[in-house]
Amino acid sequence: MENKMEEYIRRSWVEVNLEQIKKNYQIYKKNVSSECEIMAVVKANAYGHGDVEVATTLMDIGVRNFAVSNIIEACRLRENGIKGQILILGYTPIECMQQIHDEEITQAIISEDYANEIVKTGIRIKGQFAIDTGMNRIGLDAELLSQCEKTIRRYKEKLEITGIFTHLCVADSDKEDIEFTKRQISRFEILAEKIKDLNLPYIHCLNSAGGIWHRCGVSVLTRLGIILYGLKPDYSNKLLFGIKPALSWKSVVAMTQTVRPGETIGYGRTYKVMKPMKIAIIPTGYADGYNRGLSNNGFVLINGKKASIVGRICMDQFMVDVTNIDNVLTGTEVVLLGKSGDIAVTADDMAKLLETIGYEVVCDISSRVLRIYV
Ligand SMILES: *Cc1c(COP(=O)(O)O)cnc(C)c1O
Repeated sequence: MENKMEEYIRRSWVEVNLEQIKKNYQIYKKNVSSECEIMAVVKANAYGHGDVEVATTLMDIGVRNFAVSNIIEACRLRENGIKGQILILGYTPIECMQQIHDEEITQAIISEDYANEIVKTGIRIKGQFAIDTGMNRIGLDAELLSQCEKTIRRYKEKLEITGIFTHLCVADSDKEDIEFTKRQISRFEILAEKIKDLNLPYIHCLNSAGGIWHRCGVSVLTRLGIILYGLKPDYSNKLLFGIKPALSWKSVVAMTQTVRPGETIGYGRTYKVMKPMKIAIIPTGYADGYNRGLSNNGFVLINGKKASIVGRICMDQFMVDVTNIDNVLTGTEVVLLGKSGDIAVTADDMAKLLETIGYEVVCDISSRVLRIYV
């Protein structure tokens, strides 16, 4: 750790704890049924955590199924030695089918037309039919049961169809949404039953939330995303004991200065100084993915204390109030996400301030922020 710290420039960096990701995986796995394998969802650079590093770590402990969002992500995993199944969960242009085939990637088949276009290329790729059970995103409409069944049977001959999957859209929610999720699962089960004789190996319908709070009689895989990273599908959720965020985001104090009553801070002069204040300048900004919605809204942790953001977040810098924090000097570590002393701020907490979800907070951390593996 000490050596690594000297090898990079301390401006804005993320520390990813791969051991914690392993732990999160193991705790989660213990809590889902033993026949259910885990497919690690590592799309969007593993939700900002580093796809190759996360996938390699999980492959080392026996994970053999990975999911990504596109062919570039899929190929990067292959180039970096990731074996096993790699499923692309969404649309891939037809021009890429040769590469899908050559790299042994599995493509989601998002509609009957799409299946037909693939067949026309003459390339027999591996594919899994997406099934729409109520989200109204991609997939064959499960409501049209016999048409669905017919399509799967027809393309089973023409492509290497290895499974079907659906996606739950309110599995993280309670109350009346539980009924909706049950209906989604039951539609999927009915379809799976109809095509049972095809013996497709990969029938799956659960995401992080579904795997914990719902059961499906036919699903052999849980597609584990957000909880792998220690974050919550929804802010109101309680995570299993021991599951924790794997990512911390840090920066440093560039300089401090005192400001007088009557002055303003930053672009747009949105913060008006009412009393003598000491502020610190942090060299991280919205170009690093530090959301501009945190202007006059968020906070960071310095020396175990909260420091409120004052003024607007700039592209590469922002300002915080450190009037009541001792020992804030150039180079002092600043925690944007993670722990400092006895307090912590998670991506879920930040998401709450931004009225979004933790997924977006971690995905937004830009590539210019160095990832350090600890
Ligand atoms: C992203 C995604 C997942 C993972 O969802 P989490 O809520 O992060 O577990 C699973 N399935 C599909 C189809 C997805 O797009």
